[in-house]
Amino acid sequence: MNNDNIRIHPERIQLLNNKKIKMDKEYVLYWMQSSQRTKDNHALAYAIQLANQLNKPLLVYFGLTTNFPEANRRHYQFMLEGIKDVQTALRDLQIQLVVLLTDVAEGAIKMAQQAAVVVVDRGYLRIQKRWYHQVAQRIACQLVQIESDVLVPIEVTSNKQEYAAATIRKKITSQMDKFCEAVILSPVNKESLSIVLPDSQLDLSNLNELLDNLPIDQSVQPVSILKGGMIEANHQLQVFVTKKLEHYHTFRNDPGLNSLSMMSPYLHYGQISPVTLYNKVIQNRKFAESVATFIEEVIIRRELSMNFVYYNQDYDNYNGLPQWAKISLDKHRSDDRPIVYTVEQLESAKTHDCYWNAAQTELLLTGKMHGYMRMYWGKKVIEWSKTPQSAFEWLVCINNKYSLDGRDPNGFVGVAWCFGLHDRPWKERPIFGMIRYMNDKGLERKFDMSMYIDKVKSIHQLK
Ligand SMILES: Cc1cc2nc3c(=O)[nH]c(=O)nc-3n(C[C@H](O)[C@H](O)[C@H](O)COP(=O)(O)OP(=O)(O)OC[C@H]3O[C@@H](n4cnc5c(N)ncnc54)[C@H](O)[C@@H]3O)c2cc1C
Repeated sequence: MNNDNIRIHPERIQLLNNKKIKMDKEYVLYWMQSSQRTKDNHALAYAIQLANQLNKPLLVYFGLTTNFPEANRRHYQFMLEGIKDVQTALRDLQIQLVVLLTDVAEGAIKMAQQAAVVVVDRGYLRIQKRWYHQVAQRIACQLVQIESDVLVPIEVTSNKQEYAAATIRKKITSQMDKFCEAVILSPVNKESLSIVLPDSQLDLSNLNELLDNLPIDQSVQPVSILKGGMIEANHQLQVFVTKKLEHYHTFRNDPGLNSLSMMSPYLHYGQISPVTLYNKVIQNRKFAESVATFIEEVIIRRELSMNFVYYNQDYDNYNGLPQWAKISLDKHRSDDRPIVYTVEQLESAKTHDCYWNAAQTELLLTGKMHGYMRMYWGKKVIEWSKTPQSAFEWLVCINNKYSLDGRDPNGFVGVAWCFGLHDRPWKERPIFGMIRYMNDKGLERKFDMSMYIDKVKSIHQLK
């Protein structure tokens, strides 16, 4: 393959097998999985350029599995709203998006039978790594991976698990300029809309009907306040930049206000790129403090989460926590726990704590809990559970079940942060040992919590 004319930073490109490009095959295949968008999608840009170089059409494949771990109707709806957007946008580019209801890797292997080369984007979770490995082994042609969902590629930032934001910050900021270039899509030389495939594709024209008939967990309802897809993502971004960014630095922690970007569900499904966010926000010189704070969250903290998930095999379980935190929590394992709730009481928001109940209710109804309350939510569950392990498991499970942005590196790291990850030891106290403690008095000192309660009540009434 000749990479000379390909305008993607070479450090985003990795060959996942040693196989050759098959010039006798029909098309170049882009297996879209993590970067579900057309804007600032390095993998798509690369695949188009490659298809043009090889003088072949580009076909895009998306595999929809009905048994993705912990996914339910809420997640499927949000994601498919996005895939529908992508299908339309690709059609305008003369590119066909094929959506198959299949085991994801098996679908890619099947589609690769007629492919000269397969290009795939990059996710960091265990299941995604397994898919890439399976496909790389079993297809006859080359598999190229393009990293498109972080600003600075993971291995370029660091070759090890980083201790905290303080240790990764400079490694990212020193390279942001190098990797922030907006992605330009070349027009395709050969259209793929006329390619007829033997397998039946999913028809996305009536999403509700399709979703009603999918054999998925239907128990968690979709949310009405956020619609999925790259069009809506860019709309929300515009609202953030024009109306909220100015005060982000001052107001972002206050749960009673609506000053957050709402970008996390869109980032989770790759419906918006961190490159788009970076470029959109960085131009704003008037609100320098807010811009710096937002970059700290959306680039530094988010890519610290990717770093953890990538380098720590136990990213989603208690074993992945730092040694000091596990030792300290273990020392307090037998401490008296004055209040212990059952998992059902917690899930249905029936505790004595009105702030915690409001946070859990917000999650149940909207699929998104305010960022500051997420910390409080996690800390209280540690206090009210029989063991730190059972608290950890409940938090991961419930975060993944109800959050639109759940099952994300940020979710696993957010929960683990409540148990000391990327934090430092604090003054020792019962139950918590040396991990950071939070209480309702702290919330009241910092914020007008009645505003938050009212906000959640009004969402409840809207339902
Ligand atoms: C217990 C717990 C669970 C969490 N679960 C999730 C989750 O499932 N999915 C998820 O995306 N985030 C999670 N977070 C991190 C954070 O709370 C959310 O990213 C944030 O609230 C998302 O809302 P926003 O995009 O409107 O935030 P904004 O403040 O507008 O932030 C913009 C972006 O910055 C990044 N960001 C913000 N805060 C953090 C953080 N603390 N760590 C890493 N990146 C951050 C996110 O990508 C976010 O979309 C969790 C945090 C905790 C403490």
